[in-house]
Amino acid sequence: MLIDTHAHLQMDRYDNDREDVIARAAEAGVECIINASFDLPSSQQAVKLAEDYEKLYATVGVHPHDAKLLDNETLNALRDLAEHPKVVAIGEIGLDYYRDLSPRSAQKSAFEKQLRLAAEVDLPVIIHNRDAHEDTLEILRGHADQVCGVMHCFSGDIAFADDCIQMGLYVSFAGPVTYPKSYQLRDVAAHVAWDRFFVETDCPYLTPQFKRGKRNEPSYVKAVAKKIAEIRGTTFPEVARKTTSNARAFFGIAD
Ligand SMILES: [Zn+2]
Ligand SMILES: [Zn+2]
Repeated sequence: MLIDTHAHLQMDRYDNDREDVIARAAEAGVECIINASFDLPSSQQAVKLAEDYEKLYATVGVHPHDAKLLDNETLNALRDLAEHPKVVAIGEIGLDYYRDLSPRSAQKSAFEKQLRLAAEVDLPVIIHNRDAHEDTLEILRGHADQVCGVMHCFSGDIAFADDCIQMGLYVSFAGPVTYPKSYQLRDVAAHVAWDRFFVETDCPYLTPQFKRGKRNEPSYVKAVAKKIAEIRGTTFPEVARKTTSNARAFFGIAD
């Protein structure tokens, strides 16, 4: 059994067949799906889905792309949502210097505010970091005592992974680990300690190689776990067992 620790099933790309997508995930052995949010409406939708489906959980937060929208009213609404028993993290939050859709100063400020929110409501954080390794770590360092986090869809080399883990962070692997050219990522997947990582799809994005070009979905997280088993020279059930128990502990999801 697996947990897809980062999906976006609240997006309208699933409006026509969401039920089927969730059923296919269960058939593929995905026992829980955590829908990560990126703004206030998606946070509200993720919570609603978690209410409708027993195996779905939610995170609430504002993505760096929309950091400029995080005003006090939004922050208060997120705080209220975070009290919901099926909200298991604040996220996705962080820095994206690749697309720079919000000014970097706004990204940093939104990241800081939501890290403080996570500490306040006692939830871990899902971190989105793209081409912002140094600033992401620097900001996290200021909150390392209060907040536990995961670098979702990890990108970077072994040295950066070591820096993250030394700070107490987890790393999470998605579809790119299956792409032929992802040599560096596979080195990281071979290197990271067993108790520090889990798996995700980030669907509808980042579809694993076997369905590349198509819309991604939680059942495909199996392809990510199988690739990691191959990279680490172990079995798929072993990867499933470890990543699921890591994710359960991190998000506080009981068996
Ligand atoms: Zn992300
Ligand atoms: Zn995402």
